[in-house]
Amino acid sequence: MKFLCVACDEAMKFVEVADTAHGDTFSAVFGCPRCGRRIALLANPWETQLVRSLGVAVGGRTTPHAPFELVRERLANSRLMWTEEAEQRLARIPEFVRPMVRDGVERHARERGYREVTSEVMDEVRSSMGM
Ligand SMILES: [Zn+2]
Repeated sequence: MKFLCVACDEAMKFVEVADTAHGDTFSAVFGCPRCGRRIALLANPWETQLVRSLGVAVGGRTTPHAPFELVRERLANSRLMWTEEAEQRLARIPEFVRPMVRDGVERHARERGYREVTSEVMDEVRSSMGM
């Protein structure tokens, strides 16, 4: 899924996730790299809950920099193995939240010392969200 700026025939780029005035929801903001036009995709409550419960900071950074953060981020960015079934479940999640969900699930898996993300791991994340 990609948004196209109709005026420029240019693919819009993801800019930021922002809080909205529409209750407890957030929007994903996309912008045209050529004319600067912006549009926002309003997440539904399920997507909002999913992203929030995965601890994604919405609207920018909220925690101060910590020592060794860079190293930890590098470790956090190394990918875990995903089973085919888990990948398929991930593929059903809306594309714009998928990277955040992937990171959140992998963080959950790492914290518990798992080496692989399975469908069961995704169930754990889901139940930890009370869904
Ligand atoms: Zn444009």
